[in-house]
Amino acid sequence: MLHIVACIKQVPDTKVIKMNPKTNTMDRASAPAILNPYDAHAVEEAVRLKNKYGGTVSVVTMGPPPAVKAIRKCIEIGADEGYMISDRAFAGADTLATSYALTKAINKISEIKPIDLIICGKMTIDGDTGQVGPGIARRLDIPPLTSVNQVVEVNKEEGFMVVHRKLEDGHEVIQTSLPCLLAVEKEINDVPYSSFPNMLKAARYKPHIWSVNDLDGIDKKQLGLKGSPTIVAKVWAPPKPEGGKLIEGSTDEKVEQILSIVLEKKELFEEVRGSE
Ligand SMILES: Cc1cc2nc3c(=O)[nH]c(=O)nc-3n(C[C@H](O)[C@H](O)[C@H](O)COP(=O)(O)OP(=O)(O)OC[C@H]3O[C@@H](n4cnc5c(N)ncnc54)[C@H](O)[C@@H]3O)c2cc1C
Repeated sequence: MLHIVACIKQVPDTKVIKMNPKTNTMDRASAPAILNPYDAHAVEEAVRLKNKYGGTVSVVTMGPPPAVKAIRKCIEIGADEGYMISDRAFAGADTLATSYALTKAINKISEIKPIDLIICGKMTIDGDTGQVGPGIARRLDIPPLTSVNQVVEVNKEEGFMVVHRKLEDGHEVIQTSLPCLLAVEKEINDVPYSSFPNMLKAARYKPHIWSVNDLDGIDKKQLGLKGSPTIVAKVWAPPKPEGGKLIEGSTDEKVEQILSIVLEKKELFEEVRGSE
């Protein structure tokens, strides 16, 4: 029986987020919070492996209290347990401090039930670094496998698994010892619509919530802003390309504007052809 832990993060939906033109930073309040899309694939893969080999899927997140919603989404996908570490001490964490805090949470989860496999998304759509997964693996001293697009086999008895890693011109087949950490590509699976019983279970689910004082042997200096050596020197939006026309408004309005541009071009084209 496998115990698989998926690391998940709640992120603002970057498809709709607006930038603050004065500070050039993301206006997080302007977008709904969603489960990081790559992490949905991580959870789905964990659930598929559970269904194939038997076992339990836990998810863990570090985030503010509303991130409970992202955990519930994972329960809908088929996860069994959700753990959240939430505390002001974690605020302002860069990837170094995030991987440190998550490692401490993962250690505590493994005391409840030893862990065979950790699955992360390839990256988040707001931070985009892809550093947290490998950071956790380094701290736990287990093999990190990034860009995984297929799990071929998991053999707990003999302590190994086989995966495909995506390359620019194909893939490589890797066998690694367990436990290990995977960072998965979106193409590893399709996340189906949630079943009604899972939705009901998720709506009632209460995750395990831990504060900094619940994590044994934690060094508070390595958490949050204090534990984050990354310095953001400057943030700016790339200059808007010159020329062109910004299409704005509702979908109907946008379609209308695009059509009028196309028709205008068509008329010009026909005029030129007619005069030839
Ligand atoms: C100085 C500084 C201050 C910052 N302050 C804040 C802040 O106050 N609030 C804020 O939201 N961000 C803050 N950030 C951004 C923060 O560093 C990153 O969002 C966070 O460290 C995760 O990195 P990432 O988003 O690039 O994740 P990636 O490395 O791209 O994520 C890869 C995978 O790791 C896992 N993962 C990542 N983050 C989490 C998480 N929190 N819980 C569980 N699994 C996770 C997921 O599986 C994910 O798919 C700050 C960054 C800097 C540099």
